[in-house]
Amino acid sequence: MKRHSWFRLLCLGATLTCAPAANAQAAPFAVEVRYLGKALNASQQATVREAAARVSALIASPFQPVTLELPANSCDSNLPRIRERVQQFFVFVRVLDLGEDKYAEAAPCELQDGSYLPIYGVIDLNSTVLPDLPKIDLLDTMIHEMLHALGVGTLWEADYRVSLSGDSDDKNLITKVNGKYYYTGAKGLAAYRNLGGKVGAGIPLDADAGHWAGGAVCSEILSGDAGDYTGRVNPVSPLTLGALEDLGYRVNRAAGNRYTLPLNGCPAGSDEEEEAAEAEAAANSVFFASCAAARAAGAAPIRRGQPGYRAAMDGDGDGVACE
Ligand SMILES: [Zn+2]
Repeated sequence: MKRHSWFRLLCLGATLTCAPAANAQAAPFAVEVRYLGKALNASQQATVREAAARVSALIASPFQPVTLELPANSCDSNLPRIRERVQQFFVFVRVLDLGEDKYAEAAPCELQDGSYLPIYGVIDLNSTVLPDLPKIDLLDTMIHEMLHALGVGTLWEADYRVSLSGDSDDKNLITKVNGKYYYTGAKGLAAYRNLGGKVGAGIPLDADAGHWAGGAVCSEILSGDAGDYTGRVNPVSPLTLGALEDLGYRVNRAAGNRYTLPLNGCPAGSDEEEEAAEAEAAANSVFFASCAAARAAGAAPIRRGQPGYRAAMDGDGDGVACE
């Protein structure tokens, strides 16, 4: 089942202007979230903030402030008019019915003149999945989709690289060989080699040309099979950091995750592993603010793996909270 998806929208600039500020202050990179329509609950919003902080920490280069004068719906339908000086990258987050087989979709919108880096993006969360999505999977999904909104997997082809003023870029970061897509960006390739990957045509990509091939990277934040590795936040590997660099971002290497390229296929998930992941997901869907709250709900003591278990409530670390 394909759980992550993304869409690419060609946002040809229409009635807009672009005027770099004379004394633009370089701000640290941050992903700002703007909700549209149906609201997320407080806990979901906290998770989205956590994802934004995670992604922001990966990027070391500042956002170039830019003035947008855009009519409504200029990137996608049901988007508001934008008339402002944009000081940091932002994403509109909406909750829409996307059908049954995916968690979310994302796309970058307008691109900066010169750098072709996105100015803002859109992330749509699936209303049919969101209510049952454990916190850990929402976190993983939002990190994944924010990376798409920043251009990873969505701005790899020259066709999509059109800037605010309508300039187009001939940079292509993928190639197609014998019907299969491969990533060819230099930094991504270097990371793949460093991890022991054999570079033929490039890094193998999923059939949609916007994700690492699931069978090549297994559990990774931009894996085509990321949606199959639930109950965890998939690692941000040097491949994805390299892909950010190939787009033109400077990255904080130290903010990436430990990652080993599986050279002999994906490790078969043992039943034990899957059960642990499921238990963790279940545990994350129930939250007690304190042991008093857990006792009041008749849930104490809570064993590790049971809904509501948190290490913070297990002072002696014996796997039983609120004894
Ligand atoms: Zn995706």
